[in-house]
Amino acid sequence: MSRRPSFPARLDLSSGAPAVPQTAAVGARGARNQRISDSTLPSGVGLDSGAVRHRMVMKLAAQGITDAKVIGAMGAVERHRFVDSALVNQAYEDTSLPIGLGQTISKPNVVARMIELLLGGRRDASGRLGRVLEIGTGCGYQAAVLSHVCWEVYSIERLRGLHDKARDNLRAFRLANVHLLFGDGMAGYAKGAPYAGIIAAAGGDAVPPAWIDQLATGGRIIAPTLMPDGRQALVVLEKTASELKQTVLEAVHFVPLKSGIA
Ligand code: SAH
Repeated sequence: MSRRPSFPARLDLSSGAPAVPQTAAVGARGARNQRISDSTLPSGVGLDSGAVRHRMVMKLAAQGITDAKVIGAMGAVERHRFVDSALVNQAYEDTSLPIGLGQTISKPNVVARMIELLLGGRRDASGRLGRVLEIGTGCGYQAAVLSHVCWEVYSIERLRGLHDKARDNLRAFRLANVHLLFGDGMAGYAKGAPYAGIIAAAGGDAVPPAWIDQLATGGRIIAPTLMPDGRQALVVLEKTASELKQTVLEAVHFVPLKSGIA
């Protein structure tokens, strides 16, 4: 008989820092009490969410995600730390979730699929891709996943509220290779160019020319884009020395790519 995991109830206890009783007193006596509590409290939190994440990645693999590096990154990033506490128990389900200001965090399956396409077999000896640009930081979840598979992540968000939220969410992870930018991603981010990959978390009518300019030769853009029939599909653009090759993949449902900041 399988034991019912204590997730998610115990997740609320954790804040990214080692679990310490909220009431821990300061001072010599408090410190002694804290040591005793530390030995009985903390391990469950990480282990429980790890088990649920493990189930999530097993499902991703069953759904066709084959890249071991992507599976590893999806298993490593604690998605529950990026959603509101009321949604924590849905954090590892294959569903998109609201992150505030009318925006959503994509399903794990879509995040994994897009990152797998972004990598597309191109990587160095360590298995990582070089510098990438993410359009639409949102809550910062995908940027955290990207930080495990790329050397450098530039992520740009047009809504100040979400840019700040992502900064708060990512602080505890101390990801030195993630750079959060506030601005209109339609213009890309020229200072970081050229990029080995550009990944958009919002769908536009067409891929903005700035992204193509800022893409390295041999690089790829993965972007939800409006098709002539009015549906949104995942588009892969590959830049070679002589051409820009476009591949249209499956239908998707992303929030709109908008210009300007707010
Ligand atoms: N990758 C995000 C998903 C965010 S949803 C995550 O893991 O949470 C898409 C985001 O794109 C929204 O936050 C939206 O505000 C942002 N967005 C839309 N148009 C944009 C633009 N032109 N520049 C930057 N961000 C944009």
